[in-house]
Amino acid sequence: MNLILLGPPGAGKGTQAKMMIDRYRIPQISTGDILRASLKERTPLGLKAKEYMDKGLLVPDEVVIDIIKTRIKEDDCRNGYILDGFPRTVAQAQALDKVLAAMNSGIDHVISIEVDKGELIKRLTGRRTCRQCGRGYHVIFDPPVNKDLCDKCQGELYQRDDDNEDTVRNRLEVYDAQTFPLIQYYREKNLVRSIDGQGGIQQIFDRIIQVLS
Ligand code: ADP
Ligand code: ADP
Ligand code: ZN
Repeated sequence: MNLILLGPPGAGKGTQAKMMIDRYRIPQISTGDILRASLKERTPLGLKAKEYMDKGLLVPDEVVIDIIKTRIKEDDCRNGYILDGFPRTVAQAQALDKVLAAMNSGIDHVISIEVDKGELIKRLTGRRTCRQCGRGYHVIFDPPVNKDLCDKCQGELYQRDDDNEDTVRNRLEVYDAQTFPLIQYYREKNLVRSIDGQGGIQQIFDRIIQVLS
């Protein structure tokens, strides 16, 4: 099953993807996580991407398209994958369609997670992320058992540089202008499954399972 998780920053894509990995036994592919990992290793790609990420802007299409092209051909993707945070522009979606067509493959479902803007700001400004495994937490809505330590791997939790209120507002504007049009793009292909993204984390997971069954 080849899935796309679509939704604004803070909608819960990463949180749900982590739960879906266990259930469906397919990997999560997060372009944001891949870019942050490159930055951690101080690669030229990571350092270049940081300039965009810190401003809340999208990194250039070619960069993320190249990342995805390579990643979906890896061995662990043979039974499917969950794309989280890609595509984010119509140009990225078109490039993905082209790559998949050449592989005789395609997308099965686009899960569109819908959340109000006010809620998104609360979620993003309270988000904490594990430095080691990338799992997300929330200081109020989903706190770790031990303060500042990841439940899963005991890694250190930190606040992402782009999770401050000003950058969050920019990211939400970028989403409206560049990513929201993708819903229509995939609607025309009859692939969109809309999910109410407000409510408990488990409740939303149950909604996703239901639309996929
Ligand atoms: P995305 O990957 O779409 O940007 P995340 O999964 O990282 O979003 O979630 C953003 C923040 O909101 C995190 O701090 C996460 O713990 C929290 N969160 C996720 N789902 C919910 C929910 N259903 N209710 C409240 N907070 C949530
Ligand atoms: P969130 O989970 O809050 O939506 P991500 O981790 O997906 O955030 O993305 C963080 C940043 O990484 C984005 O603001 C953008 O700068 C960059 N990025 C991630 N994925 C893409 C993409 N598909 N296209 C362009 N930029 C991207
Ligand atoms: Zn961790």
